[in-house]
Amino acid sequence: MRLRHLLLLAQLPFWALLLIAFLILQTGLDRRVQVLEQSRVTRTQLEGVNALLTHVVDMETGVRGYVIAGQPSFLEPYYRGETAYPAVLKALSDSGTLRDGDRAHLNRIRGIIQQWQTEVARPEIQARPDRPEAATAMVRSGQGKRLLDGLRTEVETLTQALTARLQASDQQAQRQLDLLRLELGVAAGVLLLLSVLTTLGAARLLTRPLTALGRGAQQVSEQQDAGAVTEQGPREYRDLTGTFNRMTERIVEARRATDHAAHELASRNAWLRDLSRLSDAMQAARSLDEGGEILTRALPHLLPGTSGQLLQHNASRNLLLHAAQWGDPMGSPTPDHCWALRRGETQGDPADEPFMPPCPGQSDTYLCAPLFSHGETLGLLRVRPDPHTDLPALRGALNDVARQVALALASLRLQDRLLQQSIRDPLTGLYNRRHLEAQLTAGVAAAHATGGPLSLIALDIDHFKRLNDTFGHDAGDAALVRVSAALRDLAPAGSTPARPGGEEFTLLLPHMTQAGAAALAEQVRTAVEDLHLTHDGLPLGQVTVSLGVATLPAGGTGDALVVAADQALYAAKRGGRNRVVTAA
Ligand code: GH3
Ligand code: MG
Ligand code: MG
Repeated sequence: MRLRHLLLLAQLPFWALLLIAFLILQTGLDRRVQVLEQSRVTRTQLEGVNALLTHVVDMETGVRGYVIAGQPSFLEPYYRGETAYPAVLKALSDSGTLRDGDRAHLNRIRGIIQQWQTEVARPEIQARPDRPEAATAMVRSGQGKRLLDGLRTEVETLTQALTARLQASDQQAQRQLDLLRLELGVAAGVLLLLSVLTTLGAARLLTRPLTALGRGAQQVSEQQDAGAVTEQGPREYRDLTGTFNRMTERIVEARRATDHAAHELASRNAWLRDLSRLSDAMQAARSLDEGGEILTRALPHLLPGTSGQLLQHNASRNLLLHAAQWGDPMGSPTPDHCWALRRGETQGDPADEPFMPPCPGQSDTYLCAPLFSHGETLGLLRVRPDPHTDLPALRGALNDVARQVALALASLRLQDRLLQQSIRDPLTGLYNRRHLEAQLTAGVAAAHATGGPLSLIALDIDHFKRLNDTFGHDAGDAALVRVSAALRDLAPAGSTPARPGGEEFTLLLPHMTQAGAAALAEQVRTAVEDLHLTHDGLPLGQVTVSLGVATLPAGGTGDALVVAADQALYAAKRGGRNRVVTAA
């Protein structure tokens, strides 16, 4: 229902009652006017009756005065009354409200007056001029007095009847006035009550939806999750409530989206902070091993909900080697079988690459990001997401992580390469003199600290000058490479195979006893002796080496150890070469 219809409807009983009250008032007033009219007529009749009596009394007084005084002027009241009373009688007879009893009274009054005129007044008037005594005797006879006493009785009776009726009319008028007052009072009371009730009802009907709307608006303004406001009241209010509900829905949705975006942004910021921490940590790493350890800790955190591995190319780039691994173990692909490496971009999200088959031999879903830096492929970051992981989001994170990891790995590789260049002999790949000396100092300190042995083998190629002179310098270099390879192959883990210079080599052996070192030196000697060296297809003949072995005595220095090994080596040379001599 529309608001204006509702307001009109609310007023309808009010107006109906107003109309009824008006009708009551009109009817009451009509009745009262009738009764008052009745009173007025009765009052006029009473006046007429009194006037009639007055005329008759005037006539009788005039006749009596004339009889006594004999002067005709005394008859003036008689003649005036004689002229006037018939009109009064006629008016009384003609008044409509007169009852039959009243008319009977009036007829008798008329008869008495006429009888008095005929039998008393006129004979007395006629007799007076010539026979005054006769006129006086007529008066004394009492005939006139009897007639007029009868007239007075009739008039009194009629007057009493009319007075009683007048009083009844007045009482009725008073009763009607009281009734009218009561009716108007009741109508006013009902009107007032109805007005109060309709006003209260309309106010409730109009304020309830507004209150509900106000409550809803307050909830929205206080950032609460407002439910829909019930549509109620007139149509305009329901329309307003509907619009308000839609508006609230949009506000709540927008607020949720904002909260979600803020939450996402905060998560993203935290994640970027972690990525930046990883970058810092990787910059502080000194070796690829350290880098791998950092990545093993950081990657599960940066790529939650995944198992994964970081794979690096081996030197010959035909294999992928583990640099870091987290979560469930995963097999490694070969570079040839990896779409990510072949295509140079992240692979594995079926929604993103609908036409790409999975990598051969791979049944689970994997996301693989190739690691690129400075145009070089360093390896592969490969993750297996949990079933509920959001693949597009993971793909974005994986790309960001892969970029940082590739940069860090490239930097570590460069660092490693520079380090190797600074500590390695470029021809043979063995450690150089500088690194050997550093390792010797550290080895001596460790041996002193633990009291353990530290041995050193000094090796020199026999008659190397002759080989150089015979086959050329390049052939000499080739021989140096083969001998150094034999030495490296036999060098145990933790030892330092070095080429301090020329055709001389050294093997520093921490924790190794002199006997062990001597046995090892013998193995090296045999291995070199067994080599079949060729260069450019030409056999270079047998190459032999002489070796001197020394072990650090308690409290001895590094220099003393080197000198002792050298002296043992010279002894081997002196002893005929191709042999091992252990220092005394
Ligand atoms: P011995 O058995 O007494 O050790 O005799 P030797 O000829 O090996 O010793 P010598 O010290 O007389 O000669 C060493 C030669 O090694 C001299 C030098 O030309 C050669 N040589 C040193 N460094 C290199 C190198 O890097 N490449 C080549 N091809 N030859 C080298
Ligand atoms: Mg030499
Ligand atoms: Mg030599």
